[in-house]
Amino acid sequence: MTDKYAVIGNPISHSKSPLIHSSFAAQTGQDLTYNIIEAPLDGFRQAAEAFRSAGGRGLNVTTPFKLDAFAYATDLADEARLAGAVNALKFEGDKVFANNFDGVGLVHDIVHNLGFSITGRRVLLLGACGAARGAILPILAQKPDRLLIVNRTESSAYALAEQFSACGELSASSYSALGASPTAFDIVINATSASMRGELPPVHTDVFSPECLAYEMVYGKGLTPFLRLAQEAGAARLADGVGMLVEQAAEAFVWWRGVRPETGPVIAALTVRLE
Ligand code: NDP
Repeated sequence: MTDKYAVIGNPISHSKSPLIHSSFAAQTGQDLTYNIIEAPLDGFRQAAEAFRSAGGRGLNVTTPFKLDAFAYATDLADEARLAGAVNALKFEGDKVFANNFDGVGLVHDIVHNLGFSITGRRVLLLGACGAARGAILPILAQKPDRLLIVNRTESSAYALAEQFSACGELSASSYSALGASPTAFDIVINATSASMRGELPPVHTDVFSPECLAYEMVYGKGLTPFLRLAQEAGAARLADGVGMLVEQAAEAFVWWRGVRPETGPVIAALTVRLE
């Protein structure tokens, strides 16, 4: 019988996940279907239950259900537990296994696709919600020289630094303190949703070193205000989150199917499509 997977979110019609997973399945010869489920904002559990009852094997979870999926899981992987959010579920009997591959996907994209080592580098992470939280552990695992978290709501950045303090060298700051004592970073990651609305987090050009990688987690928005600022600052490399999207999908695919797809051709095809 053909195995069923889906991505659940609201809104979800824009999702590229069906395209990505269909490409992976075709490439690896896996017999599966992958659809989209738009659940009502208060209807995650019901929609997930219905999918499971119909034989569903796994779900990708996107906005706004990453916390609902966290509550729904029976078995949380460390990445999901520490991120406080879930982006992939696997159903086996009564068990609901949960994971979060966003951070691993980000690091894979930076290190392997873009060729930027994180080890020994100065990393600035903008944002302190789900996407930023998920990135912290995988970044720390690469042993950066320092990881600084900055968020508009300062208390969230300080809370994250405190929560992950046992896992590596990290600290927090406000945007105003960052502006007051300019410091350059080797990798600056925009994990805020500011670019979704054409906004710019209040960072100065000083944060980008000349060799800097400026990484925008949002994808498909072209030269966002953040990437434009980095370009003006002379950052060596600009990247958006399309590679992260495909890499986190690949991690979920391996977790579900036990087969690793090739991501390069899928990233290339999706990049062209988004342009
Ligand atoms: P949330 O909406 O939960 O996070 C919002 C974050 O952005 C908060 O830290 C918020 O600060 C900050 N923020 C919003 N607007 C501004 C602004 N104008 N200036 C400064 N900070 C701002 O989103 P997620 O954490 O889930 O995701 C962040 C982005 O990453 C999303 O836009 C999403 O598209 C992208 N993403 C991409 C993925 C990929 O695979 N490429 C995967 C996951 C996410 P405050 O706390 O003060 O409100």
